[in-house]
Amino acid sequence: MNDDHRFFGHPRGLATLFFTELWERFSYYGMRGLLILFMVASTDHGGLGFPALKAGAIYGLYTGMVYLLGLPGGWIADQIIGARKAVLYGGIVIALGHFCLAFPSINTFYFGLVLITIGTGLLKPNVSTMVGQLYAQNDPRRDAGFSIFYMGINLGAFVAPLACSYLGEKVNWHYGFALAGIGMTAGLIQYVLGLRYLGDAGRNPAPVSSAREASSRKRNLVIGLAAAFTIVVTVAGLAATGALSVAVLSNAFGILLTTIVVALFGWLLFGGDWPPVDRKRLIAIFVLFVAACLFWSAYEQAGSTLSLFAERNTDRHWFNGFPAGWFQSLPALFVIMLAPLFAWIWVRLGTRNPSSAAKFSIGLLFAGLSFAILIPVALRAGVSPMWLTMTYLLQTLGEMCLSPVGLSAMTKLAPARVASLMMGVWFLADSIGNYISGRLASLYESFPLNWLFGIVAAFCILLGLGLALLVRPMKRLMGGVN
Ligand code: GLN
Repeated sequence: MNDDHRFFGHPRGLATLFFTELWERFSYYGMRGLLILFMVASTDHGGLGFPALKAGAIYGLYTGMVYLLGLPGGWIADQIIGARKAVLYGGIVIALGHFCLAFPSINTFYFGLVLITIGTGLLKPNVSTMVGQLYAQNDPRRDAGFSIFYMGINLGAFVAPLACSYLGEKVNWHYGFALAGIGMTAGLIQYVLGLRYLGDAGRNPAPVSSAREASSRKRNLVIGLAAAFTIVVTVAGLAATGALSVAVLSNAFGILLTTIVVALFGWLLFGGDWPPVDRKRLIAIFVLFVAACLFWSAYEQAGSTLSLFAERNTDRHWFNGFPAGWFQSLPALFVIMLAPLFAWIWVRLGTRNPSSAAKFSIGLLFAGLSFAILIPVALRAGVSPMWLTMTYLLQTLGEMCLSPVGLSAMTKLAPARVASLMMGVWFLADSIGNYISGRLASLYESFPLNWLFGIVAAFCILLGLGLALLVRPMKRLMGGVN
């Protein structure tokens, strides 16, 4: 693998994974650009005619679930099938999910959403793991490899709303969803054809070191499958009897997320026999985790609140009334433009490079500003598209400070024996953020929008400032890691 330089100086296998993730993100963001607008569109216009209250709750459940299922998805690959098969099966399930949405029926709509959450849970964490496995442990190209991969994500995310929202909003919602499915299928074909370039990456589950570990793996597998089966059957049964409304499910999901956070951090912070250095670092992880949850709550409103704002309050008369979903291409476009600049800035700053906590604080301030600028125009109609464009620019500036820094800080701070759990913690923050971003969109029709934007802005700015005050103590807690 090491002497393979066929893809921009990187192993050829990176091209396979780059295009797989490009097409997977194409399908994810293409569909997400349509999702809330389709749900709130009247039935006369081919939509579901849901009020924002219900549509926001479904958005939060769906996107929150997508990221939460990354945890079992990573576990299944590690323990049972290996990342390579997980990506393949995940991709197939995702494509089937989008094709379900291509049918105009409420049952296929819900079923399709469930399939996409399961498929993405299998695919997304594992395709990233395989990128890491393309390189030997100390290959200096590894970080650059991940940067190229991040470009793939955003290329897919940039093109998708342009194409799917045009078809979906202008022609027929279901054609837009079908296009997302076609994108995932293209990615799958490319993946299968390119498998031979992956070497041993993701070929097998993690090796077992002892007979005891092998048997505990089997036991975990049985427990995991039994738990998943029980949950699916119970939820499906309750839903069929009509006992489970969207509101009940959404509240239940909130309780589930809270329970996971309390149990996980309860154990990490108060249980475990960590040496003092590790215990301090775990406190630092918790602080960064809270900041990340809040950041994603603001950021992921791109597909919920801000999507409604694009449709209902923004002037879109150019190009014969361009689709509201087009705005969702902007964050990805800005990432593509800004990522190289930020990489250069961090290197350029050398020893004056701000600490992770400082970058998180700046990230939150940008997120806060992105909503603050919308307050004066929140109650107006026909607002200039410049406002949302500015909002997404500010959010992307925040993302550049927080997202790449976050995962790397988590992995550096984590005590060795819970290293892979930290990847999960990062996904959990995303899940919580997405869930909240949906709950906030639920308020769109019942709460004054200037207040809604104001509250999001205030939370982000206050926590951002609070974190700025904590930069020094955080440095002490992080003990040498910055
Ligand atoms: N846009 C990136 C992706 O889809 C990151 C989004 C996130 O972590 N919430 O992978």
